[in-house]
Amino acid sequence: MPEPSGNSHDAADISVDVLIVGAGFSGICMGIKLLEAGVKNFLIIEKSEDLGGTWYENRYPGCACDVPAHLYSFSFDRNPNWTRMFAGQQEIWQYLKSCVERYGLGPYLRFKTRFCEAAWDEAAGHWRIATSHVSRDNGNFSKTVRIRARVLISGMGALHVPHYPEIPGIERFCGPSFHSAAWPSEVDLGAKTVAVIGTGASAIQFIPHIAPRAGKLYIFQRTPPWIVPRLDFGIPEKWRERFRRMPGLTWIIRKFLFFALEWRVLSFLGDRVVRGHVEKIARNHLESSVSDPRLRAALTPRYQIGCKRILLSDDFYPAFRRRNVELVTDRIAEIRERSVVTQDSVERPVDVLIYGTGFHVTEQFIGMKLFGRGGLEIHDAWRNGLSAYLGVSVSGFPNFFILLGPNTGLGHNSVVLMIEAQVRYVIKCLRLMRERNIGAMEVRAESQQHFAANLRDHMARTVWQSGGCRSWYQDTHTGENTALWPGSVIDYMRKMRSVAASEYVLRPAPPTG
Ligand code: NAP
Repeated sequence: MPEPSGNSHDAADISVDVLIVGAGFSGICMGIKLLEAGVKNFLIIEKSEDLGGTWYENRYPGCACDVPAHLYSFSFDRNPNWTRMFAGQQEIWQYLKSCVERYGLGPYLRFKTRFCEAAWDEAAGHWRIATSHVSRDNGNFSKTVRIRARVLISGMGALHVPHYPEIPGIERFCGPSFHSAAWPSEVDLGAKTVAVIGTGASAIQFIPHIAPRAGKLYIFQRTPPWIVPRLDFGIPEKWRERFRRMPGLTWIIRKFLFFALEWRVLSFLGDRVVRGHVEKIARNHLESSVSDPRLRAALTPRYQIGCKRILLSDDFYPAFRRRNVELVTDRIAEIRERSVVTQDSVERPVDVLIYGTGFHVTEQFIGMKLFGRGGLEIHDAWRNGLSAYLGVSVSGFPNFFILLGPNTGLGHNSVVLMIEAQVRYVIKCLRLMRERNIGAMEVRAESQQHFAANLRDHMARTVWQSGGCRSWYQDTHTGENTALWPGSVIDYMRKMRSVAASEYVLRPAPPTG
């Protein structure tokens, strides 16, 4: 099989051992670990023109991670140079770029290549994948590139397809409008009337940054989020110098941060004492930041803390002290050419409309097709909700692994830990296939069902199901949480430590030649 030819865009038909879709944290981690395992015939395709995934695409002002950088990074590539406790988008993106360089992953990346469709070829024992390649001339995806791969790995993550609200008239708006994940490089907000729809993790980060620039800022809130102090701070150069000199220090910090965050899972799993403690922190934060009782009441959540993602911010509440910032809690009834109308019939003129309305999280493979064994399409396999054994393997789809798949997101700790556990697991699967000369490896339907039933049992006791809210964690049809892992990271890592071959159907490789 030919070695992947880097970013030469001429190849029309490529054959690789492993195809990874997505060059974000997951895809990059997978690529690094494949190289370490001696697998060199692989390719990472990425629809954008650069690597980084969510940390490349989300470039709104104030975009940063709400997990401390020393933990939101690879355990095998600790960075002594983080300049802030909570790193910003640029710094995280640069970190990922430097990882790619350090581990020599560049030649394996193929940008502007969108995964469209894949079908498992049972007889040949490989995936036939159709991708479309962006044309340089008009920016549209046009040229089809076909790829054959023995193993297909999705590193697409869940936060990459922007969700726009279904509000009547949304298409009529004439002024500039954009989603937080598609922030234009140049947008003039100076003295303009700006409307932001949504008060989720992204919106509360960019609102404090645009408030001083806008003439008037309307914030349309549907559900107030629970917010705790962020307590961000710059890491002084003398500390960074110490980290460089004594790498063990970053290991200690990482361990400390891990355990400091890990206990918070108890509040999601039903521990009322821990939940009460976190809620008290959030209430005190709101009370000390907002003195107007009416505004405070409007910003107070009416569901149990943790039911939706708990947000971190020191500057969102203070933004309301500005005279040009107004919170609107009436539901939006309609969007017109130059205004937003709420259900109380108030029409507010608007120049710029910004959607902070999140992503399609529980509808993975949106706009794509994946045909497994016997032509089973993944959307059909998932018609009753997303499900994957250990979050990585799906019955009916041999030699296919998902990174950050169903029920492996986190609300309390660094998701990079989950990615690493999954990547180690996939490497073990590949090793098992090689050692036993396996051509196809597919999780048994009963193993997946047993895992899913267990997961549902655990989920039933969590605040996500009983906390009195509707969140993006939940499947839009069934209401079940298909996004988060209902346990600790330690528990998940333990489950991922080894591959139970008995949970898989292993088919021998066809004779070569
Ligand atoms: P989000 O948390 O899903 O928030 C979407 C917001 O839009 C919510 O306030 C939602 O209100 C509102 N909304 C949706 N549809 C609406 C409608 N039709 N009318 C009015 N309001 C509507 O999305 P996000 O802020 O983009 O964040 C998504 C996820 O990205 C986060 O939870 C997090 O996992 C990730 N993220 C992470 C970081 C980080 O630092 N690690 C930073 C940013 C984002 P309701 O609550 O009523 O639905």
